[in-house]
Amino acid sequence: MSLLERVLSRNACLVGSEWIAADSGDTIKVDNPATGEIIGTVPKCGKAETARAIEAAAAAFAGWRARTAIQRADVILRWRDLIMEHQDELAELMTLEQGKPLPEASGEIAYGAGYLRWFAEEARRVYGEIVPPPVPGRTLLVTKAPVGVVGIITPWNFPMAMIARKIGPALAVGCPSVIKPASQTPFSALAMAELALEAGVPEGIINVVTGDARAIGGELTANPTVRKVSFTGSTSVGKVLLEQCAGTVKKVSMELGGNAPFLIFDDANLDRAVAGAVASKYRNSGQTCVCTNRFYVQDGVYDEFVEKFSKAVAELKVGNGMDEGVTQGPLIDGKAVAHVESQIGDALSKGGRVVVGGKRHELGGNFFEPTVLADATREMCFAKDETFGPLAPVFRFTEEEEAVAQANDTNYGLAAYLYTRSIGRAFRVSETLEYGLVGVNEGLLSSCEAPFGGVKESGLGREGSSHGIDDYVELKYTCMSLE
Ligand code: ADP
Repeated sequence: MSLLERVLSRNACLVGSEWIAADSGDTIKVDNPATGEIIGTVPKCGKAETARAIEAAAAAFAGWRARTAIQRADVILRWRDLIMEHQDELAELMTLEQGKPLPEASGEIAYGAGYLRWFAEEARRVYGEIVPPPVPGRTLLVTKAPVGVVGIITPWNFPMAMIARKIGPALAVGCPSVIKPASQTPFSALAMAELALEAGVPEGIINVVTGDARAIGGELTANPTVRKVSFTGSTSVGKVLLEQCAGTVKKVSMELGGNAPFLIFDDANLDRAVAGAVASKYRNSGQTCVCTNRFYVQDGVYDEFVEKFSKAVAELKVGNGMDEGVTQGPLIDGKAVAHVESQIGDALSKGGRVVVGGKRHELGGNFFEPTVLADATREMCFAKDETFGPLAPVFRFTEEEEAVAQANDTNYGLAAYLYTRSIGRAFRVSETLEYGLVGVNEGLLSSCEAPFGGVKESGLGREGSSHGIDDYVELKYTCMSLE
């Protein structure tokens, strides 16, 4: 049986060394968002199974943290290699459960595997410090200790990479994890876990519990053995988890929603801006937290941009992600489709103008037409709310200050983009944008080498880069008096 077949037919999740069913025997159906077909089921676990997974993780902790960094790195690298050996199967699995086009799914596997490699390499560089003492005869040591059992809660838009970004540093520093994947896309997580065991990750170091989000999340946040929660998802759920984590004062990492602005100035290279705009808006059919939510285009190039951009968008091919040439898969579910539709309805009632797309796709189901909407204004709801779908509203501006002020007029602060050929403006504007990531003449920014994370209500902490380790360790200061 292939990995794909095994994962789809097992109907079990991983607690310690065992693939288990839910105590209740209940299951959750997982569908293919392109066809509505049920592709398999996973256990609907809750509090009790989560508590057992946490116990298994805690029991495995001492052995894993006692290994040297290079021993842990070797295991992570073996896992990374196995993932890449199964890249095609994992991509297919992801397209089946998530809907994104196969080449994008394949790209995500490589991107996620890149994080595992990066953190395997970083494992050997988790350095401490020896600090000059304030009084003679003392030695001040600062070391970094693994934080302990980590609870990981991930979304459906990147079913593999969001796990890799969290589990990579956790494994590298010696922490065990309990992962709760999104119920729409649990199979990618389960496949990764299977390969992790095959790579030699010890039993209990990785646990995957599928099921009732509130019950599992409730246990992960309340159980005192869990010392850190790392979450990627919506700001509203992030706030709930933050509150819940307060009870046991856990360390937290939060990668939450975004409302990315994309600024195009008169002096921009317009063709590059159009290419960047398409890449940043329509990847994963607009369902990423760094996807552009609002385009701000300066007067002098507004009409030309709208025309060129709309032409490029009209060429995107919508369809089942398994079909060749498709660049736009379905949205994740009917609720996501209704949300995009309602944002368009709101904009049209306030003077917006659809230039391309604008409605449900003739393929039906969860498919929506890639849409460009001109004459956007700040009264329309996408000015404040995240769209998470293939809708590009284009606002007009005259002055740089006005564009920056509008770009910053949001509670979010994840990614922002600007296109200009003026070096002064590039520095000036990127400095004043209140965002964690800024792309200057670039529409795709994320890589394992760079810190990813937001400010304001977009989150806490950074993933990737050498800083990505920090969220999984505690600084420990030891003061030694030498006799
Ligand atoms: P999205 O809108 O992208 O689905 P969510 O924030 O709803 O984002 O979901 C992200 C992850 O959080 C998923 O794994 C989901 O099951 C989980 N989740 C949702 N609600 C809760 C909750 N109350 N407690 C813990 N996890 C939750």
